[in-house]
Order: sequence, then C-alpha cells, then structure tokens
Amino acid sequence: PELAALVAGGAVDVRDFPKPGIVFKDLMPFFGDGPRFRRVVDGIVAHYGAGSFDVVAGVEARGFVVAAAIAYATGVGVVPVRKAGKLPRPGFSASYALEYGEATLEVSEDAFVAGQRVLVVDDVLATGGTAAATMDLVERAGGVLTGFTVLMELAFLNGRERLSPRKVHALLTV
Ligand code: IMP
Repeated sequence: PELAALVAGGAVDVRDFPKPGIVFKDLMPFFGDGPRFRRVVDGIVAHYGAGSFDVVAGVEARGFVVAAAIAYATGVGVVPVRKAGKLPRPGFSASYALEYGEATLEVSEDAFVAGQRVLVVDDVLATGGTAAATMDLVERAGGVLTGFTVLMELAFLNGRERLSPRKVHALLTV
C-alpha cells in the first residue's frame, strides 16, 4: 500500500493523449522525484529478492529507466527490448496489434546466455500486448522468465488475463 501510494502520487492523468478519449497516465513526475523513485525500486527488489534473477529486461523507453535502476541496485545487467529498427546487429522480433496498426519489438540474438533468469519490467501495463511480445522475445532468445513487474496496471484493459498464466506484479492497480 505504501508503494502504491508512492506511484500514485507521482502520476498525472493527461486527457486526450495520445488520442481523443484516452486518459494517459504520465509517470514523469514519479521518475523525477528521487526519494519516491528509490523507495519504489527498492520495493521491487525486495519483492523478488536480490539473487532471484540474473538480468533485467526493460521495454523502450520508460522500462529502460526502471530496469537500469533495479539492475544497478542488484548488480546484474540490463537488456534493452527495443522498438523496431534500432538494433545494430541481428535480433529476434515480435509484432503485435495495436488499436490502429501494428508495433514491433526487437532484442539482440545474443542478449541472453541460455538459461539466464530474466526479470521483465515496464512502467505501465495496459492491454498487455507489449508485455506479451516482450516475454515471447525473452524466451525465444534463450532467457527464462522469473517475473514481470510494472509500476502501474490499468486493470480495466485486462492485460493480466491476456498474460495468464504468467504472473504479473503491479505496484499500483487502477
Ligand atoms: P499495452 O501494450 O497496451 O499493455 O501498453 C503498454 C505499453 O504502452 C507500455 O510500454 C507503456 O509504456 C505504454 N502505455 C500504455 N498506456 C500508457 C499510459 O497510460 N501511460 C504510460 N504508458 C502507457
């Protein structure tokens, strides 16, 4: 509950972004608040336990911020899961449907050592399309999923169900 309040206190509702009718949760104030950010990152580490994962994978771009902090706190590395066309070397790619069109995520072919335990992180879980594609990429690249965590889950979009039976850890559910 304390961690949920810390996330909630750093989130601002933005109406009609990126499209009319959407209420976007802007977490930039959260990231900009040092004590708040640190408490929440420490809370995620405590939830999983340092030593329970070998690497953290973060989804471009806000997932990178959370992933890097968790990785630094626990002494493991970071794997960036990138939007299409950014990787300099061959990678795996996964596409998924958006409301209009399609999105593609990519990860380097050699991003993981086979069997490496991977904690996947992002800022917000909405429909779950991004998370499903990311977990698919991690497994195709040889990683073993140990968990998926987000700062905020938008429960009315049912992302958690879409990802079932994989477990989702959310600090704040709205
Ligand atoms: P999904 O694929 O529909 O679950 O959308 C999740 C992805 O879109 C994540 O990478 C989020 O960063 C981003 N996203 C979706 N909705 C929001 C929001 O309200 N605030 C911030 N990011 C969002």
